[in-house]
Amino acid sequence: MTMTRVGQAVAAGAGIEGTPLMKADSGLGGPLRATPVPGWERGLPWLWAGTSWRVDGFGAGGWPGDEDGAEAWSAAREGEVAGSLPHERKAGSRLATAEREIAAVTGGLLEGGWGTVVRSRQVHGARCRIHGDLPAGDCVAGDGDGHVTQESGVLLAVTLADCVPVFVADPANRAVGIFHAGWRGTAAGVVENGLRAMRRAFGSAAAELRLHLGPAICGRCYEVGPEVFAALGELPPPHPRPLDLRRVIRRRALAAGVPPGHLTTSAECTLCGDGRYYSHRGGDRGRHLGLIGIVAER
Ligand SMILES: [Zn+2]
Repeated sequence: MTMTRVGQAVAAGAGIEGTPLMKADSGLGGPLRATPVPGWERGLPWLWAGTSWRVDGFGAGGWPGDEDGAEAWSAAREGEVAGSLPHERKAGSRLATAEREIAAVTGGLLEGGWGTVVRSRQVHGARCRIHGDLPAGDCVAGDGDGHVTQESGVLLAVTLADCVPVFVADPANRAVGIFHAGWRGTAAGVVENGLRAMRRAFGSAAAELRLHLGPAICGRCYEVGPEVFAALGELPPPHPRPLDLRRVIRRRALAAGVPPGHLTTSAECTLCGDGRYYSHRGGDRGRHLGLIGIVAER
């Protein structure tokens, strides 16, 4: 078991907006910021969880260098967790644009003191990855939309632009999880599957868990067709209609045994909000990150 201790880094980095473990300067024309999960910093001091903001200079227009054919990073790599991820240089592309920003954020988090940041190639499925001993650095696991761990110093990440980050904490067993839940993943059971993975791996009881549904497209902005309602087990309307995906996920989490008092939902919308996050429906190519990790042993 790798036990990366980052308690000193917490103290050293305190005061940076959002997370105590994020280097403030992205090096890409804007600062790195994040919104912590409300209430968890005080109530669950052994973890940090939050959602990164968009970095100035990115967004709908893409990375300026792409137009000039400048080299951009691509950190996308398929396959199993394979050690520290080299940021391969490739010709500019849409993927490289999004990946370059993600790499900037993960790089800032690693410099801020996290030993490992792990994410995966997301496929809008239900697969959840249980992370034990991981190499240091920016790790990309194979396909999957959920991550859980009991390791300290490991930051679990999902990439988002309207989909729901589902943050999970198990105070009884000192375990954390995060799930990427769009409508497809929700319909496939990513939340239920993730909670099962935590029970299997750490003995997490649903009644003990804390859940937070983070910034995502809201129930007024997210218009979807009848087939989406049907896939989610909702009564399909005759025409496309707005859907509150976080309400659907909340109901599923309650059905899985999470107590109502342990379940919170962000009011922030990635589309009609103040623009601090990316919105796929808003035309953004970029992705922000939902992040959760155990900061130190206490
Ligand atoms: Zn909205």
